[in-house]
Amino acid sequence: MQRSDILDPAYFHKVVDCQWACPAHTPVPEYIRLIAQGRYDEAYMVNWLSNVFPGVLGRTCDRPCEPACRRGRVEEKNAAKPEAVAICRLKRVAADNTSEELRTLFPKPAARNGKRVACVGAGPASLTVARDLATQGYAVTVFDGEAKAGGFIRTQIPRFRLPESVIDEECGHVLNLGVELRAGERIASMKALLAEGYDAVFVGCGAPRGRDLHLPGRQEAGAKIRIGIDWLASVSFGHVDKVEPRVIVLGGGNTAMDCCRSARRLGAQSVTVAVRSGYAQMKASPWEKEDAEHEGIPILDFHVPLAFEHEDNGKLTGMRFKKAQTGEEVVIPCDEVLIAVGQENAFPWIERDAGIAFGEDGLPQLDRVTFQSSLPQVFFGGDAAFGPKNIITAVAHGHEAAVSMDRHLHGESVAKRPPPHVNLLSQKMGIHEWSYDNAIANDARYKVPWAKAEKALASIKVEVELGFDAATAFKEAQRCLNCDVQTVFSDKQCIECDACVDICPMDSITFVENGEEAELRQRLKAPALNLEQALYVSGDLKTGRVMVKDEDVCLHCGLCAERCPTGAWDMQKFLLVTTKAGAACRDHETRRAMA
Ligand SMILES: Cc1cc2nc3c(=O)[nH]c(=O)nc-3n(C[C@H](O)[C@H](O)[C@H](O)COP(=O)(O)OP(=O)(O)OC[C@H]3O[C@@H](n4cnc5c(N)ncnc54)[C@H](O)[C@@H]3O)c2cc1C
Ligand code: SF4
Ligand code: SF4
Repeated sequence: MQRSDILDPAYFHKVVDCQWACPAHTPVPEYIRLIAQGRYDEAYMVNWLSNVFPGVLGRTCDRPCEPACRRGRVEEKNAAKPEAVAICRLKRVAADNTSEELRTLFPKPAARNGKRVACVGAGPASLTVARDLATQGYAVTVFDGEAKAGGFIRTQIPRFRLPESVIDEECGHVLNLGVELRAGERIASMKALLAEGYDAVFVGCGAPRGRDLHLPGRQEAGAKIRIGIDWLASVSFGHVDKVEPRVIVLGGGNTAMDCCRSARRLGAQSVTVAVRSGYAQMKASPWEKEDAEHEGIPILDFHVPLAFEHEDNGKLTGMRFKKAQTGEEVVIPCDEVLIAVGQENAFPWIERDAGIAFGEDGLPQLDRVTFQSSLPQVFFGGDAAFGPKNIITAVAHGHEAAVSMDRHLHGESVAKRPPPHVNLLSQKMGIHEWSYDNAIANDARYKVPWAKAEKALASIKVEVELGFDAATAFKEAQRCLNCDVQTVFSDKQCIECDACVDICPMDSITFVENGEEAELRQRLKAPALNLEQALYVSGDLKTGRVMVKDEDVCLHCGLCAERCPTGAWDMQKFLLVTTKAGAACRDHETRRAMA
C-alpha cells in the first residue's frame, strides 16, 4: 500500500466519524469538550458558525452523526447495548446555558459591498445563505409568504418538540446581521424578481405540497381527510385545535410521527399509524417511532391502504387496508384521516421560459456541488434543490450555495472549491499528560429526562424533552472519545521496539511487511474488517517493514504515545473548518486586489 497522505484534509477528517457524517461538518468533539468544561457560549458559537441553529437542531436534528459515532462501534465488544454519544442533545445543552455575553460574540453587519442578493423563502437554507453573505457585505433580502421567518421549522415542527421562543431567538441572530426580511410577501414570478436587478437569487422555497392519496372514497369523505403537512401548519398557527375521536395517520415518515403525536395532544381517544412498508423500513427516525409508541400509539406496518370507507352522506367511517404479507383485507374504524405519505416539489412561480431548466421529475437541473442552476445567477438549496430532506442538509446546502454566489459575484469559477481550513496541534502537556481527558470507561448513554406524561399530553405546547442538566451533560460529554485528537506517526523517530503494539488495548497497531490492501488487512494483529475505515500506513522503516494502524477501532486513548520511548507517536488535535463565503473562498489574486 502507498504511504497514507495525512496532509490530505480528508484523511483525518474521516477519522472524526461524527464530523464526517454531519452534512455541515460541525466540529463535534470540539464543542463536546467545551460543554464538559462549562464553556457554553464558546460551544454555542462553534455550532453557530457551522450549523446556524444550535438550539433548534439540538432538539430536532435528524442526527446522521450518531449512527456514525465511534462509541457505538468500539463498545460493541465491551457493552451489552453499545450506544453513540448523545451528540445532538449535548448541542442543546450549549444553547440552553448561554450567558448574556453571547450577544457580543456574533459578528457585526459588514460594510456593504454594493451587491444585492434575494432569497426566496425564509427557511434554514435561505437563512444560512443570508447569514454567510450578510457578514460579507452583501445586501440580502429574504422573502417569505408567511408572517415570520423559520420556514418549516416554524410551520411544521410541533411546539412540543420545539418551542417558538427558540425559533425566534435563532432566526433573530441571522436577521440582526442587517438582513431584510420581507415577510408576508410570496414571490409570484421569477421573471419579475429577476427584473428587480438583484445580482444573484437563492431559491430556498422548500418542498411545499404534501402528496395526496387518490383512493376510492377520497372525494366523498374529503371533509375529514387532511393532508398531514397542511394540517400540522394549521395546528401550529392555532387554526386547528381539536380532532375527531378516532384518527388514522397514513405514512411512515417523520411527518406521520408528528401528526400522530399532535393528534394525541389535541384530544383523540385513539390514534393509529398505518404504513405500507415494514417497521424497519419506515422513513421516520428510530427515536421518533419510539416516542410515538411510548405515547401509546400503535404502528401497523405492511398495511396497504385500499379505500376510505364512508356512509352515503359522506361521513367517514373507516379505512380499508390490505395486509401486504397475507393479502387479507381489514377495515379499521376511524373518524378522521391524516395523509402523510410524502411531499412533492412545486415551483408554480418559476416561469418555464425564465431560463431555468427543470428535469422530468419537476426538480431544477442543478450542479450537485455548486447548487447553480442553468441561469448562472440563480442558485437553489434545501428541500427545493433535490427534494425533501432535513434541516441540517438545508443548512449544508446554504453554506455551499453561499460560497458559489460569493465566487460568482467576484467573477470566479464556482466549480473551483477551495479546500477546508485544517490545523494539527500537539496535545502534549507532560510525559504522561494530555490536554484532553483520555480516561475511557464503559458508561452507558445517559437518558434525556422527559416532562411527566399527564403534563406533556395535556397541551400541544408543552415541550416533552427537558434537556440534560449540567451535571448529566458533563457525564455524557465524557463518553466522547475525542476522535479529533489524532494519532500522528513519525517514521524517522520509530525504532521498531513494538512498545506501542503491546500497550494498545484495541490491537490497532501492527509492524508488518507491506502488501496489497485486501490481504494486508487480514495480516494485521487484529484483522481490519471494516472497509469503510482507513488503514494508516507509514513509509518504509529501517527493517523494511511498515507501521499499519487500523483507524476503525482506535480509542484515541494516547497510550501508544505515552509508551513510545522516542516520541514517534504524538496525539495531535485536528481542527477542520469548512470553507465559507468570504475572502477564504476566493482565489488568491482576487484577495490580493481587495487588500
Ligand atoms: C411535519 C414535518 C416535520 C419535520 N421535522 C423535522 C425534524 O424534526 N428535523 C429535521 O431535521 N427536519 C424536519 N423536517 C424537514 C425540515 O423541516 C425541512 O427539510 C427543512 O425545513 C427544509 O428547509 P428549507 O430551507 O429548504 O425550506 P422550508 O423550511 O420548507 O422553508 C421554505 C419557506 O419558503 C416559503 N416559500 C415557498 N414558496 C415561496 C414563494 N414563492 N415566495 C416566498 N416564500 C415562499 C415557505 O413559506 C417556507 O416558509 C420536517 C418536515 C415536516 C413536514
Ligand atoms: S466518540 Fe465523540 S468524537 Fe468520536 S464519533 Fe462519537 S461524538 Fe464524535
Ligand atoms: S490511541 Fe494508540 S493505544 Fe489508544 S487505541 Fe489508538 S492506537 Fe491504540
